[in-house]
Amino acid sequence: MDCPLCNSDGGELIYRHPLFRVIDAREALYPGFLRLVWKTHVQEFSQLPPEQRTLCMSAVVLLEEFVLQQFKPDKVNLATLGNVVPHLHWHVIPRFTDDAHFPAPVWAAARPEARLSPRQQRILDTQFTWFAQLNERLKAQFG
Ligand SMILES: [Zn+2]
Repeated sequence: MDCPLCNSDGGELIYRHPLFRVIDAREALYPGFLRLVWKTHVQEFSQLPPEQRTLCMSAVVLLEEFVLQQFKPDKVNLATLGNVVPHLHWHVIPRFTDDAHFPAPVWAAARPEARLSPRQQRILDTQFTWFAQLNERLKAQFG
């Protein structure tokens, strides 16, 4: 199967569990963008067995809480779309009222003058610290 998420991690690996991984999904205008990728090729969330749905959402909650505590965003966006890559993954995105798209989704067209806000620049500048902290937090909860 020619699936980019079956064939590679899909980004810089922050944590790997036997059933899922967490990657740095940073984009130019969105440092701190995290993605949880399920290991097996499943298209829809409901196709996971119930206990795996629970595990998946526990991990998404941990990521949301981490983003809230670490980056102090104005909002966190959670999304699972899979229209382009139909392999189950969750986006966890810190949003700021002064980011490039707020209040539109990050996938909308950016404002022409869009640039990183000062708070987003801080996320980028501290990434090696928070990568390690997030890895520790995930290991503590999920092994
Ligand atoms: Zn896949």
